[in-house]
Amino acid sequence: TDFVPGLLPRTRRLLLLLNPCGGRGNSLQQCHSHILPMITEADISYNLIQTERQNHARELVQAISLEEWDGIVVISGDGLLYEVINGLMERSDWEDAIKMPIGILPCGSGNALAGAINYNAGFEQAMGSELLLNCILLLCRGTVMPMDLVSVTTCSGIRSFSFLSVAWGFISDVDIESEKYRHMGSARFTVGTMVRVASLRTYKGRLSYLPVLDAHRPICRSITLAPNGSLVPFQRSQLHRTVSDMGLCEERNVMYKRSSASLDTNELPSFETPSPGSPTALNSSSFPFDSVSDSSQQDSTLHREMEPTIHHQVNGPKDDLVPALEQPIPKTWVTVEEDFVLVLAIYQSHLGADLFTAPFSCFNDGLIHLFFVKAGISRAALVRLFLAMEKGNHIEMECPYLVHVPVRAFRLEPLTRKGIITVDGERVEYGPVQAQVHNGLSNLITG
Ligand code: ADP
Ligand code: MG
Repeated sequence: TDFVPGLLPRTRRLLLLLNPCGGRGNSLQQCHSHILPMITEADISYNLIQTERQNHARELVQAISLEEWDGIVVISGDGLLYEVINGLMERSDWEDAIKMPIGILPCGSGNALAGAINYNAGFEQAMGSELLLNCILLLCRGTVMPMDLVSVTTCSGIRSFSFLSVAWGFISDVDIESEKYRHMGSARFTVGTMVRVASLRTYKGRLSYLPVLDAHRPICRSITLAPNGSLVPFQRSQLHRTVSDMGLCEERNVMYKRSSASLDTNELPSFETPSPGSPTALNSSSFPFDSVSDSSQQDSTLHREMEPTIHHQVNGPKDDLVPALEQPIPKTWVTVEEDFVLVLAIYQSHLGADLFTAPFSCFNDGLIHLFFVKAGISRAALVRLFLAMEKGNHIEMECPYLVHVPVRAFRLEPLTRKGIITVDGERVEYGPVQAQVHNGLSNLITG
């Protein structure tokens, strides 16, 4: 049929990228039982591609023709979206490419962004199939919002774009060490946390940042991108009306019951991710360490030579807030030198589907929420912090070891010889790292 452009809505076309190894390895099953039926009913057309290896999604989005798609949606954890974003930024037409609406349907073990989308929509915090069904509904409605990206530069000068976090110490250790419990799904983080608490370690480092003095809770405003490309403002109160208009409310309940039943009766075998590519030596000699080596660092599990993710050079806007990594910090910045239990820069409300780490964070507030926990905190207090984080109550605990600063840029210089740094949950090279926010650089499908 011939539609008159701009008058009648046309079917949305989504590129779905599914990681069959995400989470517990049942994303393909989830896709057939939940995702495809719902988006078909919502009259969305799609191409579904299964990723075959690490960086496959990254290469795919470099080659697509932008006009053919209304959005790229990953069916996986946060790691696959990180690949998609960086693939788009590696294109010569990155300025257009990064405006492609991107979305996520949580089928990984790390589903932080899905948790943030779910929260932004006004749903109660959810996990597993419930979170997935909420996110499918929101994807079907298709509201798009600008989302900040943070450019992260590591010591060899490689820059990548991040939508979630930079972590060092406790959190990145748990994230990477718990890969071996991947078959447990998101419970891997709970187990990993307990293991790491038992052998708690501290890291010496220098943390510098450009503080935001007038940071107040920003007002989130969603924009609906109508099929004809025009912008329609969207109010949060419309959510329930819109969802029931689509006739998906009942469908959601029916499907949820069906999914719980099928998940109970259909236990899948546990799954181990194949180890990625050939080992790359960690270059730890390229930056100045202090001579003090923490004796607690010699944990063979942690320090077996795991290779970092290979990163390609990306394009993108200039970093106007940070000097080159070799250059000194501007005078207006604040520097702290500490023994840290953890350093976390987060720019989403959630660090995991059930970790409400930065309740005040919005997709496009232009802020990096810098958290750090100083050495000296007791194991019990640290566990209490993480338990309170499920509801976002850790801030009110006023723990003297926990510091939060809203910033626009930061530089982290590890002074402890060995450790793990992650960007969006993916391991990067260890050493000095710096980052700055780029306000509203991407477009996220938030529903
Ligand atoms: P999870 O939250 O479970 O870790 P992610 O989406 O973060 O799920 O994916 C984990 C990693 O799997 C990513 O680094 C991604 O590059 C990689 N990956 C994608 N497709 C495949 C595949 N077919 N085989 C192995 N690894 C893959
Ligand atoms: Mg991951």
